[in-house]
Amino acid sequence: MIELTTPVRNIKGVGPRNHEALAKRGVYTVEDLLYHLPFRYEDRLHPKPLTELVAGEIASVIAEVRGSVLLRTRSMPLFELTVGHGLQTLKAMWFRGTYLKDRFKPGEMVALYGKVEASRSQAGRFKMVQPQFEILPAPPADPSQDKDPLNTMLEVGRIVPVYESLGGTTASGARLGSKWTRRVIWQVLEQLEQGPALPEVLPIAMLRRLGLPSRLKALREAHFPPAGTQMEALQDFRTAALQRLVFEELFYLELGLELKRKRLRDREGTAFTTDDNVRSAIKQVLPFKPTAAQKRVLGEIVEDMRKPSPMRRLLQGDVGSGKTIVALQAALIAIENGYQAALMAPTEIRATQHYLSARRLLARSPRQYHVTLLTGSLDAAHKRQARSRIFRGEAELVIGTQALIQEKVDFVNLGLVIVDEQHRFGVRQRFTLMKKPGSADPDVLVMTATPIPRTLALTIYGDLEVSVIDELPPGRTPIETRRTTLEKSEQVWQFVRRQVEQKRQAYIVYPLIEGTRDDQPELDFPVDAAPEPEPVKARKGGKKAAIPFPEEKQPKPELRSAAQMFDELRAGALHGLRLGLLHGRLASDEKEIVMQQFQRGEIDVLVSTTVIEVGVDVPNATVMVIEHAERFGLAQMHQLRGRVGRGAARSYCILMTGGKVSPEAELRLDAMVRSQNGFELAELDLQQRGPGEFFGTRQAGTPDLRVASLSRDRKMLEIAKSEARALANGYLQDITETEREIVRRQLKDTWQRRYGLVEA
Ligand code: ADP
Ligand code: MG
Repeated sequence: MIELTTPVRNIKGVGPRNHEALAKRGVYTVEDLLYHLPFRYEDRLHPKPLTELVAGEIASVIAEVRGSVLLRTRSMPLFELTVGHGLQTLKAMWFRGTYLKDRFKPGEMVALYGKVEASRSQAGRFKMVQPQFEILPAPPADPSQDKDPLNTMLEVGRIVPVYESLGGTTASGARLGSKWTRRVIWQVLEQLEQGPALPEVLPIAMLRRLGLPSRLKALREAHFPPAGTQMEALQDFRTAALQRLVFEELFYLELGLELKRKRLRDREGTAFTTDDNVRSAIKQVLPFKPTAAQKRVLGEIVEDMRKPSPMRRLLQGDVGSGKTIVALQAALIAIENGYQAALMAPTEIRATQHYLSARRLLARSPRQYHVTLLTGSLDAAHKRQARSRIFRGEAELVIGTQALIQEKVDFVNLGLVIVDEQHRFGVRQRFTLMKKPGSADPDVLVMTATPIPRTLALTIYGDLEVSVIDELPPGRTPIETRRTTLEKSEQVWQFVRRQVEQKRQAYIVYPLIEGTRDDQPELDFPVDAAPEPEPVKARKGGKKAAIPFPEEKQPKPELRSAAQMFDELRAGALHGLRLGLLHGRLASDEKEIVMQQFQRGEIDVLVSTTVIEVGVDVPNATVMVIEHAERFGLAQMHQLRGRVGRGAARSYCILMTGGKVSPEAELRLDAMVRSQNGFELAELDLQQRGPGEFFGTRQAGTPDLRVASLSRDRKMLEIAKSEARALANGYLQDITETEREIVRRQLKDTWQRRYGLVEA
């Protein structure tokens, strides 16, 4: 007898060789196996007749093998298979198809899946290039003598699930493909259906209300949809069976987050007061009229800070939307209440910038505030000094990098932590290290310039409340964005020259530092909280798998790099201008010097890698040239573009492509030209890359969803969230005590096993 917890190695048909391969894919138990859903389905009940094919469509057909031939073309061997149905025939071809030579026997039935193209040599005929294929079993002459009825039952005359390979090989060395997976899953389902009822993990009343089937039925029909199921509904993950599995996953994700929030509400924080003194202190430092969005957001923060439970709030807004000043106002509330506030920045440059602008703003107040900077590069004596000022409570506002955590800084009474994540993450989890044992939790405000699609905000940041600044301060001119190619670079450099003649400054950004070394992973602090990026896997059934820029992984030598172009431009097109070079392999004080020179206007053109993303504010810079723009992600390009347009002058973003531009890159570049709305771009980025890759580095805390897709299942996510909230807060009427207990156990299991999160 098997259960969901039965190890896969105990399943018939899974040998020791295979169970190791499965383990590599995270499939250890029957349950894991069953949640390995098909990534598409083939209608082999009503296959498309060859006479009804249309050029351009993706189709699956079933036809008889007529013949095959291995052609030796000049460039490569080409395997050509002719299949037919009645008089109509179809050619399928595979480049370098030598391996297919003796695979197909005339008379066999095959299923082909691929894009239909018109044949060039024969009018009215079609071909498929590199289709996926399966050779179908021959129906037995005498069905009662069929030795293995499963063969025919699972492969033909039904809607057939197609799986991504789970790895592993058969005894004869062939890869375990869909056929094998189908059989194993079928057998498991049969056994489960004969055994005792599979425990339901969702309350019955909830399922009934949402019109969702039981767990076992859902699993059965997700793998083997009954005849009559709409193919479109299957491909879009809209069948009741698939929706049930999506809901189940999202419900437990949201329930976990909801309980976290609830637990936080019970924690001891600080109830700050905001009397007239505090209010006027906040107002005094404002050099301008806040935007409506800034006012609203500050109101939300103030409301949190007044509550006795600790604040956990995410402050989102495009670069330059004025988050920092709002955060500083929050800091003043804490300080005026007699507490210390800390602001943690992702890089030294950024910390220093915050330090300087905080000093500038606070100087507007008649009262003297004590601001202390603490970064890793300070010498030991200065660090000691800073630490002691913090420890003695002299330092009211402490601005720093991760050094704040790493250097064991003791605060006397830390009331508010502001985390400037920009779009580098992994810091948030550790602010608790700054908390003294036994003391109240500080309020936490996380600022991010990455517009986060709501679906992600509900998951990654699910334990935070969200505030959004969706309005730029007045006086900004929109940035003009244009696309061009490498061939036109002379014109681009001329344009840069003219801007510099008008006393403006420019950035020119490259994906690489020098040669073929990739500059993507450079970070100013180690992201030890984030595991190595995992190989991207296809998202089941949903939007295209995130297949992001394979070219990024293997930079080709012809790519232009910052160092090389710095030399080239200095000697050539931009000769006579003051050029600077900035990249992550410079020591941090070197970086600092270059940045300061640029900031002071002593450098006209900054040739750089993506390091400048992380926050510099040079209002006089009006041109952002991104070379090899096809290699950048949307979020990244949007961030880079946000570096200009910070002053009153008209600014330009020039996206220069060099080399092959993939269709996905085309979409990104078009979107950049079309839109300056960070949220819109973020949605597209999420769709293209999937949540794991959304931020460039894989995030700790990015839920590794196996069924649901955050871009496809947005609606279900909202439903799951509201159901989870109802259950967690006891609004759910029709749930039995037993069900509650099951949900509790399932939640614990899910969170520990699936998300690897230990309850805080
Ligand atoms: P963010 O932190 O969101 O990137 P900042 O707080 O650095 O944005 O603000 C960007 C620039 O806009 C700063 O120079 C800031 O002084 C200015 N600024 C912020 N809010 C306003 C406002 N309401 N009116 C005018 N200028 C503003
Ligand atoms: Mg509070």
